[in-house]
Amino acid sequence: MKSDLHLHSTVSDGLLTPTELVDKAFEAGIRIMSLTDHDSTDGLAEAITTAGKYNDLILIPGVELSTDTKNGEIHILGYFIDMESEDLQKTLESFREDRLYRAKSMVNKLIRLGYKITWEEVLKVAGSGSVGRPHIAEILAETGQVASIKAAFDELLGRNGPAYTERRKMDPETAIELIVQHSGIPVLAHPREVNNLDEILPSLVSSGLKGMETYYGHYSTEERTRFQQLCDNHTLLATGGSDYHGPDRAAECDLGDSKTNLQVGKLLLKMHDELKI
Ligand SMILES: [Zn+2]
Ligand SMILES: [Zn+2]
Repeated sequence: MKSDLHLHSTVSDGLLTPTELVDKAFEAGIRIMSLTDHDSTDGLAEAITTAGKYNDLILIPGVELSTDTKNGEIHILGYFIDMESEDLQKTLESFREDRLYRAKSMVNKLIRLGYKITWEEVLKVAGSGSVGRPHIAEILAETGQVASIKAAFDELLGRNGPAYTERRKMDPETAIELIVQHSGIPVLAHPREVNNLDEILPSLVSSGLKGMETYYGHYSTEERTRFQQLCDNHTLLATGGSDYHGPDRAAECDLGDSKTNLQVGKLLLKMHDELKI
């Protein structure tokens, strides 16, 4: 039995609905899971209801916030966040509006660069979820205008790519404080992707960071050991998950394949109990 504490649905840029995701997770042997859509808690009610069909499946409410530093993007997960809070929902909504503006701007840049893509196509691919770069990349790859989704990011949509548009800035400390203010447990996502991890970690911890993904995706044993050590040094909980976005995303980790055992999920539940938030 496993945990998977980092999952996306159609509410953001995932391919499965919250219900499909929960059913598939249970089939995969996951018994503690969290839905962590980007900037949205809109899939949680459905996921919680579906999880309720199973006697022994625990669904932890979550969200993933994107933040920026001068050295690149940092993603912060918020577990047990109070999704009923109006103030939180207003903040998330403003992030989603920014995401929409940003995606539109990137499509316009691509058109100016001579690529054949329309905003309507992007909306269609995104479905009910929030529009993001993966949807744009998918269209470019499927129409053969780039070699692959990865190539779309490398050549066009990545931070230094000609079609890239910056997000409105939020620093990771602010995101951590926002999660704490709304009764959530903030956890640093995919730390390998953080360029200056050792340097920035003390500031994140003093803002209220409580954990760091250690059993993430396909991280190697060496990487896991390194992040576990950092967790120990900073008294952080080592969490984990696949960051699954759906079938056919071949480059990514499959649902439940992040080697996050059940105990990891139990420790997160225990931390929530002990914090009494
Ligand atoms: Zn992320
Ligand atoms: Zn994610």
